[in-house]
Amino acid sequence: MKKILFYFFFIIILIFTMPILFTNQFKTEEVSSEETEEIIEEKFDYGKYSNIRLLHTDSGTIENVDLDTYLYGVVASEMPASFELEALKAQAVVARTYTIYQIKNGGKHEPVADVCDSSLCCQAWISKENRFARWEENLREEYWNKIVRAVNETKGKFVLYNGEPINALFHSNSGGKTELSVNVWGGNFPYFQTVETSGEEAYSSYNSEVEISKDELIKRMLEKYSNFKIDFKEDNCIQILNFTDGDRVQKIKIGNMEISGVDARKIFELKSAKFNFQILENSIKFTVLGYGHGVGLSQCGSDSMAKQGKKYDEIIKHYYKDVEISE
Ligand SMILES: [Zn+2]
Repeated sequence: MKKILFYFFFIIILIFTMPILFTNQFKTEEVSSEETEEIIEEKFDYGKYSNIRLLHTDSGTIENVDLDTYLYGVVASEMPASFELEALKAQAVVARTYTIYQIKNGGKHEPVADVCDSSLCCQAWISKENRFARWEENLREEYWNKIVRAVNETKGKFVLYNGEPINALFHSNSGGKTELSVNVWGGNFPYFQTVETSGEEAYSSYNSEVEISKDELIKRMLEKYSNFKIDFKEDNCIQILNFTDGDRVQKIKIGNMEISGVDARKIFELKSAKFNFQILENSIKFTVLGYGHGVGLSQCGSDSMAKQGKKYDEIIKHYYKDVEISE
């Protein structure tokens, strides 16, 4: 009997406490979702990105600069100041977005710096003094003012996809068509797409050629692949196997090796992976289109679009799919 009473009270207690337990659980969830919202809002507090810890790669020193000053140096270094103002504005917004994305996602130099001044790693940056030294004297003021205008007139604006700043990659010249990031580094981002821009062929970075001797090709391949062999007398001893969505070389067979177009670009120091080749008597001649990885915004394409009357936001939306520009 005592046992039955015990179970009876136990069930009664359970009935009364269960709703309390559930209510508490719901309360906890509510609190945590509120907290998340607060964190997201905090991430977009523009003031949080106003100070940049810039690593100077040649000296190894870190300089604290405000975001706008940093961006003047990036735009001045990354894009010719002779380009159209709307192209410079697109570059300023994209450089700002890239910087915010780096800080928000930890970047390559944490915990010591947010970004470095190298185009091979982050974005190129140049001081006003060094930039002036490379411009003709009569153009210095005009060029610098144009860059300052591009940054100031887009102040606080950056590129968003689904409310988040994008990994705003850019390159010099797409050689006719941009590329998906998955074909360059393997990562996939929904906002990169393959698009064409007319007018890129008017820029000197559109075409280039590299000619290397057969011996040099063998030497460079052996440095990378110790079992490399090639018989130049064989038909198809070098053969492009397939192309990417953006018309770059995806896979190329060189002798007994099958390598990616991205690796071939590095080995033979080509300006892009959009290349073809000719086997000559003693050498291999590569003809190359475009300059850079081809992902995201094309700088020459942006200038070409600006010359056709497009505004910076139209240029950005041409190169990144389904994005918005923050107010
Ligand atoms: Zn870096």
